[in-house]
Amino acid sequence: MAAKTLRLLLGDQLNHRHSWFQSVNDDVTYVMMEIRTETDYAVHHIQKIVGFFAAMRAFAEKLEAQRHRVIYLKLDDKKNLQSFEANLSSILKSDEYSQLEYQLPDEYRVDLKLKNFASRLAIPVKVYDTEHFFSTREELGHFFEGKKTYLMESFYRAMRKKYQVLMEGNNPITGQWNYDNDNRKKLPKNHKPTTPLAFNTNVSDIVEMISQTDIKTIGTLDAAHFIWPINRNQSLELLEFFVTECLPLFGSYQDAMAPNEWSLYHSRLSFSLNTKMISPSEVIERAIAEWQVKSEIITYNQLEGFVRQIIGWREYMRGIYWLKMPDYATLNFFNHQAKLPDWFWTGRTKMNCLKEAITQSLNYAYAHHIQRLMVTGNFALLAGIHPDEVDAWYLGIYIDALDWVEITNTRGMSQFADGGIVGSKPYVSSASYIDKMSHYCGSCFYNKAQKVGEKACPFNSLYWNFYDKHEEKLSKNPRIGMMYKVWQKMNPNDKSALLEQADYYLKNINQL
Ligand code: FAD
Ligand code: SF4
Repeated sequence: MAAKTLRLLLGDQLNHRHSWFQSVNDDVTYVMMEIRTETDYAVHHIQKIVGFFAAMRAFAEKLEAQRHRVIYLKLDDKKNLQSFEANLSSILKSDEYSQLEYQLPDEYRVDLKLKNFASRLAIPVKVYDTEHFFSTREELGHFFEGKKTYLMESFYRAMRKKYQVLMEGNNPITGQWNYDNDNRKKLPKNHKPTTPLAFNTNVSDIVEMISQTDIKTIGTLDAAHFIWPINRNQSLELLEFFVTECLPLFGSYQDAMAPNEWSLYHSRLSFSLNTKMISPSEVIERAIAEWQVKSEIITYNQLEGFVRQIIGWREYMRGIYWLKMPDYATLNFFNHQAKLPDWFWTGRTKMNCLKEAITQSLNYAYAHHIQRLMVTGNFALLAGIHPDEVDAWYLGIYIDALDWVEITNTRGMSQFADGGIVGSKPYVSSASYIDKMSHYCGSCFYNKAQKVGEKACPFNSLYWNFYDKHEEKLSKNPRIGMMYKVWQKMNPNDKSALLEQADYYLKNINQL
């Protein structure tokens, strides 16, 4: 009798093109499970839980249609013991499996669980690559071995060379690696961006199932019209929409923000990518192919900006994660201790930029990069919020939030809690940057130009307060030195007024 194999598939391993699925074998059974340990490790957005379950169910159905054997445990299944370990033990006991196989988890938490579980089993356990990323878990660590800094740009260039993306041998095809300087435009006043492509899936059954439990969620959802892609075809449709409708202006308005425009020219492919419904290589290839035939509409800076996010930032963050975990999750360079203000969970604040970014996050489980970095992240850092609190919020609220890419972006890029592993200086700004890149300030209760007084924009005083408080840690940073020169030259009365204003705002943070 042939040896029977049980293969575990995680909710973010929905890769139909994986070599596992290229032939059907009756001696192999796939198991997928909706479990409480996954719904409860953070307070997730309702769209995130629903999105994962809907995509997992669609994936299992497709496997079954292809005649693969599948055990699918729904959350309310009586046999469901609600954890990977308990369900696997029970299935392995109930049938004569002689081998367990799984794909490398992306998250340290799950990796550890499965390793511990596997070490206690009497049968062999085999672990496979997910066949999704460009780089291996260890590649970035090897690349930077012996180096003091981990510059994303160096890793990005190495990835481009290795995979010959927009390259002629060892040189970039245009002679220039990075076009970031061309990509910082504000949206013109009367510019109307493309309406985002939204799917229209009815997910009422999953919502109803979740409502029968005590799972805590945040955010809102229209159950009859779920907007996110839940299968490969929809993911490919979103990719097509992106390359035809958004790529021509992606780079130009990558850092722009505007009221009521929740995604502008961003791809919103992160959920499809992070669940592996589509692969980073096919996304890049499709974007390059579109640029090749439409280079008069899609200028090169739009394409390079997009390619860099995927083959650069995304791979880099994953590499940093596997190099630095588990310690990374405890880093708190500034020793920040404050709690997130209550309005992070409701959007009810008078600060228009934060109201917009948080409200759309609650409505769509999405905010684009610059909103995450320079609005919510910027405020959290200036307000001295504990990185654990900030992480928990980002991990819960976004549909694309998985620990490996959330924590490196939040604790690393946004909160500088790693002391400069990911970024060379903290991403903080006063109102002037937000006003330069957005149309939020015009309709705000606060005055972007005012530094002190009742209507003073909180970003202004909090910004100087942050630099003042962390002078010892930051003043020697060559990228920040100039700011300290300005601060030191400032009139002492103005400095005290700014610090007093910041102190007042921090003491009354829930009323801002
Ligand atoms: P686009 O702007 O269209 O970019 C294309 C793709 O590039 C994205 O889908 C994503 O896969 C990749 N990408 C772009 N920037 C980054 C980056 N900095 N790191 C990794 N990949 C990147 N991304 C997540 O996928 N999950 C998270 O939980 C997450 N949390 C974040 C938290 C903070 C504080 C910040 C500042 C950024 C975070 N990001 C996260 C990165 C980035 O904001 C999102 O990937 C992006 O906004 C997703 O939207 P999009 O697909 O429209 O991206
Ligand atoms: Fe945000 Fe300040 Fe501008 Fe208001 S004035 S939108 S709080 S930056």
